[in-house]
Amino acid sequence: MITVAADHLERTRAYLAAAAADALLVARPENRRYVTGFTGSAGLVAVTPSEALLAVDFRYYEQAESQAPACRVIRGGADPAKALADAVKTLGPARIGFESEFLPYAQVERLRERFAPAELVPLADVDRIRWVKDDAEVAAIARAGEIADAAFERLLEVLRPGMSERDAALELEIAIRRAGGERLAFDTVLASGPRGALPHGRATDRVMERGEFVTVDFGAVFDGYVSDCTRTVALGTADARQREVYDLVLAAQRRALEAVRPGVACRDVDAAGRAVIASAGFAEAFGHAMGHGIGLDVHEGPPVSPRSDAVLEPGMVVTIEPGIYLPGWGGVRIEDAVVVADGAPRILTRLSKDLILLAS
Ligand code: ZN
Ligand code: ZN
Repeated sequence: MITVAADHLERTRAYLAAAAADALLVARPENRRYVTGFTGSAGLVAVTPSEALLAVDFRYYEQAESQAPACRVIRGGADPAKALADAVKTLGPARIGFESEFLPYAQVERLRERFAPAELVPLADVDRIRWVKDDAEVAAIARAGEIADAAFERLLEVLRPGMSERDAALELEIAIRRAGGERLAFDTVLASGPRGALPHGRATDRVMERGEFVTVDFGAVFDGYVSDCTRTVALGTADARQREVYDLVLAAQRRALEAVRPGVACRDVDAAGRAVIASAGFAEAFGHAMGHGIGLDVHEGPPVSPRSDAVLEPGMVVTIEPGIYLPGWGGVRIEDAVVVADGAPRILTRLSKDLILLAS
């Protein structure tokens, strides 16, 4: 399945027009893939109002021609950027935008030389072209989520006290690959007991004990698109304090999910969930954003954070992931990815959010 839609190029041209540029250089791999369909590891794209040019080196001539039929493929030899510049110059653009948040300074300097006399214009928000997903993209993200759900269910069959975090993470990762995941979306977070206070604690050799919480943050990749989900489960038993914190995080997540609607500011979604945690006296224990967009990248726009100026639109896919982290005690995080839709958002994770007490 190839998830490149013709409208990705139209979306890019609309961005180009809004940025008042005559051409856009696209180098970031996720953007390059989004605009052209080309999945190779190197290549430079130029989009103009009338053309899309993709310059690649010798390794990728055939792949580019088959994956990017809407592009004029430039066979760039040892210097694709030079070949692209020569081709673009014949189109006469005066202002050429580039991804200022992605390209290293030295590379920008080289591009300025090659594309002169055109002016290179820094554009910080090119990634916005990917924020609203089409149906094929949503389907790929949903499939990645199904793969991850199935792998987590497999983990729950074997997770038990006495197991090391590392062995548990390995079970999950193997299950993701077996279920059809291309790869892991990111390094699995698997933190047990007091280590749960680390929001991004990687699995260690620590042996998990009965009565501890285990937080697992994991994702699969399908057709280039990622899933992102977190569950916190209890090994055997959970005491009153654990249940209180778990229920609070779940209530905060539900409140934030209820706020996810087209037209709502992302900062208001963050605030809705954050208020639940703050009102119980745990404001200081929730120090990260409520969520983020997912797609070809794990952390993309729109940011769902207290400072976000983004507004939700139908087709955006965002995570909602409140957490409470208490040093010396541990932590709880619950995360789902949702598609913004008219009415209630569509939750892409099917895993239960009732507190799971794994038999020991
Ligand atoms: Zn996550
Ligand atoms: Zn996340």
